[in-house]
Amino acid sequence: MSASSCRLCRRIKDSPADAKAPAGFFHAPDRLFCASSEPQPLEQTRLNPYHLLQFLSFPPRGLPTRSSVRRIPTLALVVQKFGGSSVATADRIKAAARRALRARQAGNQVIVVVSARGDTTDELVELAREITDQPPAREMDMLLSTGEQISIALMAMAIEALGQPAISFTGAQIGIVTDSFHTKARIKNISTQRIRQALDEGKIVIVAGFQGIDEAYNITTLGRGGSDTTAVALAAVMKHDPAGTGDVGCEIYTDVDGIYSTDPRIVPEARKIDYISYDEMLELASVGAGVMHSRSIEFAKKFETPLQVRNSMSDTEGTWILPEAEWMRGVVVCGAAIVKDEAQINLDNVPDEPGVSHRVFSAIAGQNIAVDMIAQNAGIGGRAAIGFTVPRTDLAKTRAVLGPLAAELGATVQNQEEVSKVSVVGTGMRTHTGVAERMFAALAEAGVNMKMITTGDIKISVLVDKADGVKALRAVHQAFRLHEPRPGAGLPCKTSSSPFLRRPQALLVEAPVRDLARLTQQLGGMEDIVVSDVLLNTDESMITIYNLPDEAGNCSRTFQAIAAGGIVVDMIVQNLTSTGRAELSFSVPSHDLQRAVNIAEQAARTVDPQTRVLAESDIARLFVLGVGMRTHTGVARRMFGALAERGINIRMINTSEVRITVVVDRHRGEEALACLKETFNLS
Ligand code: ADP
Ligand code: ASP
Ligand code: MG
Repeated sequence: MSASSCRLCRRIKDSPADAKAPAGFFHAPDRLFCASSEPQPLEQTRLNPYHLLQFLSFPPRGLPTRSSVRRIPTLALVVQKFGGSSVATADRIKAAARRALRARQAGNQVIVVVSARGDTTDELVELAREITDQPPAREMDMLLSTGEQISIALMAMAIEALGQPAISFTGAQIGIVTDSFHTKARIKNISTQRIRQALDEGKIVIVAGFQGIDEAYNITTLGRGGSDTTAVALAAVMKHDPAGTGDVGCEIYTDVDGIYSTDPRIVPEARKIDYISYDEMLELASVGAGVMHSRSIEFAKKFETPLQVRNSMSDTEGTWILPEAEWMRGVVVCGAAIVKDEAQINLDNVPDEPGVSHRVFSAIAGQNIAVDMIAQNAGIGGRAAIGFTVPRTDLAKTRAVLGPLAAELGATVQNQEEVSKVSVVGTGMRTHTGVAERMFAALAEAGVNMKMITTGDIKISVLVDKADGVKALRAVHQAFRLHEPRPGAGLPCKTSSSPFLRRPQALLVEAPVRDLARLTQQLGGMEDIVVSDVLLNTDESMITIYNLPDEAGNCSRTFQAIAAGGIVVDMIVQNLTSTGRAELSFSVPSHDLQRAVNIAEQAARTVDPQTRVLAESDIARLFVLGVGMRTHTGVARRMFGALAERGINIRMINTSEVRITVVVDRHRGEEALACLKETFNLS
């Protein structure tokens, strides 16, 4: 493809003064010169991805540029990551080596990150289990890191055999320094010196994914799937390395053609997505889309590193993971995901007073366990119930920390293991309403009962019986017609009209644009959390329906009635109590409260006369916005801790990777806002 068939280049060439980048992409017409290199087999309507990449790797306004005019002849550095299946056999290693060589011959410096071959990591885990039920975490890391060490040596040999100098490094050798949380370590920093030296000597640098070293020289691993995180972290660090040119691309090679609307192994009609935003991918990965390690997307977003996910076995155009663009706001649901093995925990009869959430969740977070789907309904008679989910693999540890705490609080702990979580994600949920209703209706129609519901700003999750999990995922995928082409997935990226209603402007929670790059530069460690804003909303009220019979269709019926009344519902939390009845809370605009209560009462009474509806108009919601907030257990901990210290009671909680929401008493709203801004240094 020549430059003139790239629509972006042509527009800039034809009218540089008023040339417009596609909405959402960084654009600096006075500083950008497109090169007509890198022919790509692309449709006319698409942009040449390499030109797109130049746009995206362009520093956003406000950041210092290396020079006022950047001429970009080629990509300077490419990080290529090959997953386990892409290096499973000698032939595949050779194919990956040829791909790396092609990138080198195109004039780029190349870093290759590799995973352990095929099922090596699973086999090592199994081997450890045959020795002991509880292998020490340090020794587990020592063992698992060997899988990647085999791959790097073989890859370096394969590249050398093609006549190109190459050198392999383990995480420790390259200076990937992590904390000491064995099997779930986080990257603190990466030194670029040794990589830079080898690259400057003309070598292709091969790095073992998934591993690092702590400050006491113990080998650590980053958590299953962590090689993605190594690759993106390397791309990020090299992009911001003062000794580099800043032009870095990151390609993730795997066994599918890109990111699909859901796991194509479970739903074969799933559609490949061409472009997806960082936030959407972060949420999807966090709620089960195992194709990317969610922490890798945090790096991509924080350090503004565009990624492409591609098939290592073909040259098919993959999926670009990019900053959010205007047209994406029309995509209400971009994908769905499932976590098949989730565990639900209910803490009943806990005192409804300040500091309790903090004690519960900080005890769990102290074990580095990420809690999800927190449902804390309004308490009655001074006692409340807290429900939440954790990955099934973390259940034993969670119960162990909760046991003594529950005894102290006079609470009871129950858990259920045979549950799955199904979620939908889409940027357009921020601006559109009605998504939850459609999801609940689809599940009701499929006869799937929802045991728990939580909503974030761009995701909705429901917990269902494990036996219903795949059926629920299929029903939801079908309900949002995710198999059909749409802008950004088979159709050109244009703002399109959505069948969903737009949220009234007053209800939109939009943070002022903060300089993420500046905030990122202030972090102590690479994987530290970025909290970009705290916002307060006092325009909404809560409705809780108690004692709703736990049967498929009841929630759906309630929300259909509310929607038919033209009332916009925002935060939804539903939990089952120990009596087997559901408690369903949701927020509505305060000016619609009375009408919403009337409709809810009528709908609930039709289901069962024993239901009770409670309205609360004295609430305030606080939104803490950032990157990777759920997986980084420290944020919620600091947030709950700060509120507890001031004696502010948390009445509801909602977590997602990009936003944590808490509900407090309205008269404490301003105070809570000031307290959280201070906690996160945002004053
Ligand atoms: P690798 O070894 O290359 O890291 P993974 O097995 O970790 O590969 O990830 C690729 C797999 O992720 C695919 O084979 C697919 O089954 C699964 N997957 C789950 N969700 C999705 C999705 N939304 N899009 C694509 N693949 C997905
Ligand atoms: N080999 C590790 C795993 O299987 C890391 C990775 O593949 O990303 O989890
Ligand atoms: Mg993977």
